[in-house]
Amino acid sequence: MICLGIEGTAHTAGIGIVDDEGKVLANAIKMMGGEAGGIHPREAANHHVVEIPIQIEKALEEAKMSYADIDLIAFSQGPGLGPCLRTAATAARSLSLALNVPIIGVNHCVAHLEIGRKVTGCDDPTLLYASGGNTQVIAYAGGRYRVFGETLDIGIGNMLDKFGRESGLKFPSGPKIEQLASNGGKLIDLPYSVKGMDVAFSGILTAALQLRKKGESLEDLCFSIQETCFSMLVEVTERAMAHVEKEEVLLGGGVVQNKRLQEMVRIMAQERGANMYVPPGKLCIDNGAMIAWTGIIMYRSGVTMNIDDTSIRQRFRTDDVDVTWRE
Ligand code: AMP
Ligand code: MG
Repeated sequence: MICLGIEGTAHTAGIGIVDDEGKVLANAIKMMGGEAGGIHPREAANHHVVEIPIQIEKALEEAKMSYADIDLIAFSQGPGLGPCLRTAATAARSLSLALNVPIIGVNHCVAHLEIGRKVTGCDDPTLLYASGGNTQVIAYAGGRYRVFGETLDIGIGNMLDKFGRESGLKFPSGPKIEQLASNGGKLIDLPYSVKGMDVAFSGILTAALQLRKKGESLEDLCFSIQETCFSMLVEVTERAMAHVEKEEVLLGGGVVQNKRLQEMVRIMAQERGANMYVPPGKLCIDNGAMIAWTGIIMYRSGVTMNIDDTSIRQRFRTDDVDVTWRE
């Protein structure tokens, strides 16, 4: 069985083609950006209108396949920005109807976890999912993927991008902040916000912007933002691992490409006798292959959807997914 997966929750139009053994045959990705200013949902949707057909062609070419080889269509049903989700869902429905193959809507956060399990070989991990719009610590417990901790306001990547935008850096700012941080070294006090198992980033953003105006160096602020925010993430991830007694920590989302974050999680894991797993970059960021693979395992476990079931779910919760494919 061959599945074509469409990712379109936010800034990225991604098309993946995956077979039923989880082999990634194609993973075409186009992320909007470049300009300072962040994402506007309508503009991102317009980007996807143009890019989804282009990326489908690229993916088919990469996989050396034609439309006739596709047996299943999967798409990112949520959570995400309404106009973007609608564009991806419309493309998925059109393909499913035109090719007369089944369609499956996939939870984006669960897809990050499932592709990570598949490609890194971990079995039952705690996922630290740190991306632009989402920040969650997720683990499997009692038949569901439960959210053990999450951001109470904005995603960590969104915070980095907003700080970058106000500081004149291009979107996405995360990689640039990482680079600047490596030239900083003074730890400036920022509001470390862990509340129970949850985290919050907007106070750190406000404080960092104020300190910037007062003349703190950009490098030191980038360094301090990373140290503070990543410590918060590592703290809640470790607590979730201890609670569910899991020995594997999996990383997902664009922010986990950050080498300092990886280093901090690795140290935490080593100290607990656990292992850290990081998927390759193109499978960490938003991508169609993770959607395609999750579509396949859902389909194999008996999930079917009619077109009526494919309405988008902007606030699709990770723990709303009935995990039919794991015992
Ligand atoms: P995603 O939403 O998962 O596609 O990831 C995009 C987010 O990852 C954006 O907010 C980027 O700024 C962020 N990002 C990408 N690379 C890095 C990095 N090296 N360090 C920190 N953040 C990053
Ligand atoms: Mg994502």
